Amino acid sequence: MRAVIMHAPGDVRVEERENPTIVEPTDAIIRLSASCICGSDLWPYRGADRVDHTPMGHEYVGVVTEVGDAVKTIKVGDFVVGSFFASDNTCDICRAGYQSRCVHAVPMGSVGTQAEFARIPLADGTLVATPGQPDPDLIPSLLAASDVLGTGWFAAVAAEAGPGKTVVVVGDGAVGLMGVLAARELGAERIIAMSRHADRQALAREFGATDIVEERGDAGVARIKELTGGLGAHSVIEAVGTQESMMQATRATRPGGHVGYVGVSHDVALPGREMFFALVHLHGGPAPVRRFLPDLIARIWDRSIDPGRVFDLTLPLEDAAEGYRAMDERRATKVLLTP
Ligand SMILES: [Zn+2]
Repeated sequence: MRAVIMHAPGDVRVEERENPTIVEPTDAIIRLSASCICGSDLWPYRGADRVDHTPMGHEYVGVVTEVGDAVKTIKVGDFVVGSFFASDNTCDICRAGYQSRCVHAVPMGSVGTQAEFARIPLADGTLVATPGQPDPDLIPSLLAASDVLGTGWFAAVAAEAGPGKTVVVVGDGAVGLMGVLAARELGAERIIAMSRHADRQALAREFGATDIVEERGDAGVARIKELTGGLGAHSVIEAVGTQESMMQATRATRPGGHVGYVGVSHDVALPGREMFFALVHLHGGPAPVRRFLPDLIARIWDRSIDPGRVFDLTLPLEDAAEGYRAMDERRATKVLLTP
């Protein structure tokens, strides 16, 4: 099969790989209907994370072609969506809704789903089958549910976005934009997107942002305070993962407020004394997307949300290198790869 391999930072190639086979009796094999490039794939691309001939990709939707002997609920022919962590969905941590830290969790990045086929561990726990074969125009939205939508949704839930709340979203990448959509769906009264890119501002407004703040850092925090009667927001979504964005998020939150942080943390160090007096709730980490998948799939299936709009470039898998370049150069927010 064809698959994306990152040889080294900046060096993405599409090459022949062995077709995956059932290894554990709880595995399934899927034929990818679509895959995509994640903002977090840019960390190794830019040399911030180690990479060496690494199969890439952790987001996926597709059709089941084979299941192991122990798989009970997922069947050959099912159209399925899964999260970027495989999980058994039965351990104590899973049952509490934190499937991304399942005691048997397998990171799907170790499988590499920017490919024609993928092996999905713990298929019964990991995969959610759609009610039938989706119309083709639903596939991008279902793919978004696999990571960016589920992650933005978790961030909004962690930040306790809801009726009467003012929600600030730090980060205008795909996850931030999905956080805007999630905050709207959860009933937030006011949603302030922090963005300085006209195209992303437009998409943020389409997804439900009521205000845009272009300033960053201290100036951005001052602007949020101005817009919230000097108090800061009730709920802040952090979707970048840098020191600057994390401090911007915590400082834009009012005492008693909640920060949902989902940007993969890179060298973030929180100042203890400032955090002590900030009196804000911090909750975040790798999103337990599996918790939200049934609900998200239902909302997509009945067309009440259209998160697939976040993909602004579609390329054949064979042109994945161009997709990475486009995202790296910010010519694209999120790139969908077709088989
Ligand atoms: Zn588990």
